[in-house]
Amino acid sequence: MLQLATTDKEKLRQEALVKENQYPEALIHAVESSQASKIAGQNTPHSGLYIPDAGWVSPVRLCNYLLQHPDIHCRFNTRVDKISRTGDNWHLYDNNDQLIASSAIVVVAGASETKRFEQLSHLPVKPIRGQVSLKQATSEAPVLNTVICGEGYISPPLDNQWCFGASFDVKTPSDEIRAEDHQSNFKNFRMYYRNWQNTSRLKRRVPLVA
Ligand SMILES: Cc1cc2nc3c(=O)[nH]c(=O)nc-3n(C[C@H](O)[C@H](O)[C@H](O)COP(=O)(O)OP(=O)(O)OC[C@H]3O[C@@H](n4cnc5c(N)ncnc54)[C@H](O)[C@@H]3O)c2cc1C
Repeated sequence: MLQLATTDKEKLRQEALVKENQYPEALIHAVESSQASKIAGQNTPHSGLYIPDAGWVSPVRLCNYLLQHPDIHCRFNTRVDKISRTGDNWHLYDNNDQLIASSAIVVVAGASETKRFEQLSHLPVKPIRGQVSLKQATSEAPVLNTVICGEGYISPPLDNQWCFGASFDVKTPSDEIRAEDHQSNFKNFRMYYRNWQNTSRLKRRVPLVA
């Protein structure tokens, strides 16, 4: 994963991060724009940080893979309304006070909804709106070898689809899909894509000129 320094402020932040933390080179290291371009397979005018072992996954595929474990049993479309404890066990109830499940250990991974449970209402969790966008990749799509983060982010196409984003809105907690969020994501996407297409055309011309 390449985290590009697209502003002077970000460049300074990255320089300080590398200098102050002395991370192992294999974990994270600074790259000049020429190295960043080589890693990405596309020209970029920006230097940045390269994290070789960071990557990208399809959340759906990852979840489906994890769910193959024989000890995992799914209960979809089941809303937990209340958690209570008696003896050594936690009990989960729906909104009709019907017991859903009991267990010695409960892991609550309900994002901002987590606070709805009395036992967890103290957590400093806050909903922040965000949206990614998907676009079909054509056969002429420029090659991209790694995830690029900077002005937004974009990952190499998976199943012929670019995935890029993300919008970020601390003021509106709604989870509806919004056209204006797609528009701002597309603005960033077009910026990257146009530059790369120009680069690809230029690259193709070089041998002919030579
Ligand atoms: C566009 C976008 C970009 C993001 N980028 C980043 C990032 O770069 N870095 C980062 O750290 N985070 C990022 N986040 C935030 C991150 O995705 C969330 O913090 C994380 O997914 C929360 O994980 P979770 O498992 O707690 O909840 P989620 O993955 O949100 O899943 C919660 C699940 O719990 C279910 N649920 C809720 N309440 C109940 C209930 N009462 N009973 C039963 N089920 C319930 C919901 O239906 C949902 O399926 C981003 C989020 C978005 C939307």
